[in-house]
Amino acid sequence: MSEIAQNQNSYRLEGENLKVFTFPAPILKQIAKPVTTFDQNLQQLVKDMLFTMYHAPGIGLAAPQVGSSLRLFVMDVDFDREKTLNAEGNTEWKYTNFNPRVFINPVFKQKDGELVYEEGCLSVPGIYENVKRAEHVIVEYQDVHGAKHTIEAEGTLAVCLQHENDHLDGIVFLERLSPLKRQFLTKKFLKAKKG
Ligand SMILES: [Zn+2]
Repeated sequence: MSEIAQNQNSYRLEGENLKVFTFPAPILKQIAKPVTTFDQNLQQLVKDMLFTMYHAPGIGLAAPQVGSSLRLFVMDVDFDREKTLNAEGNTEWKYTNFNPRVFINPVFKQKDGELVYEEGCLSVPGIYENVKRAEHVIVEYQDVHGAKHTIEAEGTLAVCLQHENDHLDGIVFLERLSPLKRQFLTKKFLKAKKG
């Protein structure tokens, strides 16, 4: 599926829909390795990850979730998705307000404040729970060409940066919960997964 948004923030949705690994896949427990080669393969991976994220839909996706143990994630905390019916009465999705972001080899330079936010994860579908995170963060990272950048973020963007960065360290958000909650939700998820 490929679509082009109508507005000025248009982003061409093209790529491959990658398989998203779900908890407790071993790749989700690994510490990911730094990206060292900024080549066409990396650009393709980023493109496919964005495609996969938008269509899931999700607001963030880390490389280990699609089977690549690399320190990189993509994110868009701004896009909208609207359900419409076409002339034949079939469901179509319209995407607008794209703001795709790519973070490679991210390093947290500062974390402060406290924020409780309801999180979900494409690797733990169907489970949503409040997680305590830092409210304000400063992160250094590289773009797809290897250039260095710094971002200062708060709110949803700060939460998302922390959630995705956790994936690079082999941590899913369930592990950020109290032991009791973690146990309950893990059981619930695995039971639902079994069907
Ligand atoms: Zn996640």
